[in-house]
Amino acid sequence: MSTLRFKVVEEAFKRKAVPASVPDKITSEYYGKYVFNRDQMAKYLSKNTMKTVCEAIDEGKTLDREIASHVAAGMKMWAMEMGATHYTHWFQPLTDGTAEKHDSFIEYVDEPGGPIIEEFSGKLLVQQESDASSFPNGGIRNTFEARGYTAWDPSSPAFIVDDTLCIPTVFISYTGESLDYKAPLLKAINAVEKAALDVCLLFDSNVKKIYSYLGWEQEYFLVDEDLCVARPDLLLTGRTLMGHESAKNQQLEDHYFGAIPPRVAEYMRDLEFEAYKYGIPLKTRHNEVAPNQFELAPIYGETNLAVDQNIFIMSLMDRIARKHNFRVLLHEKPFAGVNGSGKHNNWSLGTDTGVGLLTPGKTSEANLQFVTFLINTLKAVHKNNALLKASIMTAPNAHRLGANEAPPAIISVFLGSQLSAVLDKLEASTSEEAIVVDDKKRMKLGIAHIPEVLVDNTDRNRTSPFAFTGNRFEFRAVGSSANCASAMIALNTSVASQLKEFKTEIDAKMKAGISKEEAIFDTLKQYIKDTKAIRFDGNGYSDEWKEEAKRRGLDCETSVPLIYDAYLAPQTVKMFEETGVLTEKELHARNEVKWEVYTKKIQIEARVLGDLAMNHIIPVATRYQSMLLDNVYKIKAVYPADKAEKLSEMDSAIIEEIADHICAIKTNADAMVEARKVANRIEDEREKAIAYHDNVYPYFDVIRYHVDKLELTVDNEMWTLPKYRELLFIR
Ligand code: ADP
Ligand code: MG
Repeated sequence: MSTLRFKVVEEAFKRKAVPASVPDKITSEYYGKYVFNRDQMAKYLSKNTMKTVCEAIDEGKTLDREIASHVAAGMKMWAMEMGATHYTHWFQPLTDGTAEKHDSFIEYVDEPGGPIIEEFSGKLLVQQESDASSFPNGGIRNTFEARGYTAWDPSSPAFIVDDTLCIPTVFISYTGESLDYKAPLLKAINAVEKAALDVCLLFDSNVKKIYSYLGWEQEYFLVDEDLCVARPDLLLTGRTLMGHESAKNQQLEDHYFGAIPPRVAEYMRDLEFEAYKYGIPLKTRHNEVAPNQFELAPIYGETNLAVDQNIFIMSLMDRIARKHNFRVLLHEKPFAGVNGSGKHNNWSLGTDTGVGLLTPGKTSEANLQFVTFLINTLKAVHKNNALLKASIMTAPNAHRLGANEAPPAIISVFLGSQLSAVLDKLEASTSEEAIVVDDKKRMKLGIAHIPEVLVDNTDRNRTSPFAFTGNRFEFRAVGSSANCASAMIALNTSVASQLKEFKTEIDAKMKAGISKEEAIFDTLKQYIKDTKAIRFDGNGYSDEWKEEAKRRGLDCETSVPLIYDAYLAPQTVKMFEETGVLTEKELHARNEVKWEVYTKKIQIEARVLGDLAMNHIIPVATRYQSMLLDNVYKIKAVYPADKAEKLSEMDSAIIEEIADHICAIKTNADAMVEARKVANRIEDEREKAIAYHDNVYPYFDVIRYHVDKLELTVDNEMWTLPKYRELLFIR
């Protein structure tokens, strides 16, 4: 008997690489071709409009309607020349991914029925009403007044996908609340840039603007399309809900940095070609630790644009993968027993004079500034460790964190031995030793020369969720399917608030007659003392660390719905309000959405798990069991009783084993349905999510255990679901 699985596996195995369709051109010739960037703007906008738009982008000024009309006209001309017939306001609702509604450019010239022209006014560019009642909004908009609007974000360039001009926008309710990721992200970036500038001016009066930077690294899996389709769990939930570990998985670590398999290499070439056309500066591609796991990363850029590019490339990856008969899995934990996928967020701040505020300087003046920003970041992360964890926590990411492969569900900061020594020395010195003023009145770091080679030499501690890596912090706990904005809102807001507090302290001390150097030194020294608990360079995977972290007062909560409470802690609400990033009302609404999404994800998984157990696993196991029973029956018919007893011993044992597993699966699946029913009756979103976490989710592992045991027992030919060895090793 050859099952569908065998056919699918055979076809997948035989599949040849689909050649990439990349032209014989150098990258710079088509780079950014699909983006209305400054080069394109210069061709389609008047000098005056161009200047105003650039000022708006660089200085965050608002654009008036007249300028917007000019931009719209130029944008339309460019888009139509590129073959676009439609336009859309592209936004990032609080679900995964992005949303868009396409409208054509056509309008009647005069009256209905007459000739048409293509039109795109400033009004249409700037703002669109959006009947988006079905987007999660945490109750801010009741469905009967389901009106929100999308508003143009000029700082992220418009781009073309197929025949559609896509305009990056924020999504806001009519009463002004943010309903998306972008609106608060822009506010958080603005807050941190302002606060950092104020602090920077203590050291360098030439700086006019600060930038928040992000460089993401995207991990993902590729699975042959047909194999994926034969796994309803992968298709519907993005992960395998069952499947016994393959005998070989990642033990030999032979996949990591190995040669990229040909089918995958062609996919990557196509993906990079497309990404370059959108001005996404992809730099790195390589295999990851788990079989069939890969990573790509661009050169870092300004946070808002980097976030848009990441969310866009996730959809691009999906499209291109299909061309190569793959499905891309962006889920944090598609397979048990091998590594999951993350999205490291490399974050830093830099000045318009080209100085990285987290880059150790060549001079000791620069190093004082560096140390100041480093210590303030420590302080921000220490104070907000629970919030930062909440910002990256989702149902799928919960599988990854704390699972001996990814950072634990505790936020700590890794500094490395060199920097730790610098901070220790600073703490032990006097103000005169630590900060010296030269004859040009420049402040300098008087102690501990910080080696320039730090960038390449930082110890790599892969177990740390938030590590200093030479010229930036790497927030590694972010999940592969997440919108980076969530983490970036929390981090930039935390640092903004901290830098504001630092500046206030310095000002107050100086007002009280303390010198600037002494004020800075005193404050930094105090911060070094205050933040010891967040510094941890040891093994984040160990059980001792969990105990230690608890003693240090770090947030150790592991239940996703409870982790979200961190957003509503009084000091957090105060911080978001004072920085102008989110109001209390918005924070409450957004938490409602988080709890709701959590519940729905677990609910869908529970349904798929129940269905598969009942109509894939149990029927197959029963059929195999019946085959064995048949065998026993025949043995008894042929041999004398005592001999038959002996000959059928093994069959009988397996028959009983199967019966036990089937029974356990059925009992637990039934109990899970009951638990779901109870949870579904709860109205309060938080309570409901807690019920799903505490009472529904625990059945997953139990059911899976028995299913995976059956997979090992039942005849391989009968098993319908592609196995791990097939999903992970065919490419
Ligand atoms: P690794 O895997 O060693 O962490 P990668 O090269 O894969 O390194 O990714 C590092 C990412 O960090 C890249 O996106 C890179 O552009 C980015 N990066 C480098 N310097 C900075 C910085 N100062 N600020 C933000 N991101 C940075
Ligand atoms: Mg990295």
